[in-house]
Amino acid sequence: MHAQIEILASLQTVDREIKEQTGLKQGLLSEFQTKEKEFQAKKREVEVLAAAYAEKEKLRAEKDRVFQDEGRKATDKRMRMNRIKNVKELQALQREIDQTRESNGDLEEELIKIMQDMDVLKAQIQTKESEMAAMREEWQNKQQELKTQITGIDQSVSEAASRRQSIASQVTGDLISRYELIFSRRGGTAVVEVASGICQGCYMNIPPQLGNEIIRSDKVHLCPSCQRILYIKPVAE
Ligand SMILES: [Zn+2]
Repeated sequence: MHAQIEILASLQTVDREIKEQTGLKQGLLSEFQTKEKEFQAKKREVEVLAAAYAEKEKLRAEKDRVFQDEGRKATDKRMRMNRIKNVKELQALQREIDQTRESNGDLEEELIKIMQDMDVLKAQIQTKESEMAAMREEWQNKQQELKTQITGIDQSVSEAASRRQSIASQVTGDLISRYELIFSRRGGTAVVEVASGICQGCYMNIPPQLGNEIIRSDKVHLCPSCQRILYIKPVAE
């Protein structure tokens, strides 16, 4: 195998390591994002419930005001009873009092219903809030773990990057940029072996003539099918 291709092959080993570690880090970072979205969703649930509760509270206050007013009116009517002069007036007033009593009864029922709804909402809010608190606590522990993992990844990536630099400095000419282009376009495999006349990158046959050239010449040869840089291990004699 030619020296330059051999160097590229070891560069590829390091580059794959970096690629793998970077992928792992991306995965961990997306865990952070997912968790953040979960928090936001839970928070919105609480906000929606709190808004519904506030709406009920407003309604309750309104109904309560009407209820108090009606109560005062009923008291006034009862006071008027004392000043009644004839039966006709008495009957009319009695009807009014009955009507007021009936509508106050309805109001009272409505108020009770509203307050029951409020109790339900309050319980739901408390449940959601404690779910949120539990989520937060669990996440805080997990977060620490993830941060440690990410720090570890960053360290091994920077260590690999300096190894890469010293290997890359041994590659001559524009070979490195050709290699890098193939590496990024071909899913992290730029340098492949030809084994038994088959490219190990795409598993297509390599013409025998090309095989011979790869062994003989110092030039860089690409697979005609997948355009990867080819090498052939010398056969032990
Ligand atoms: Zn190929």
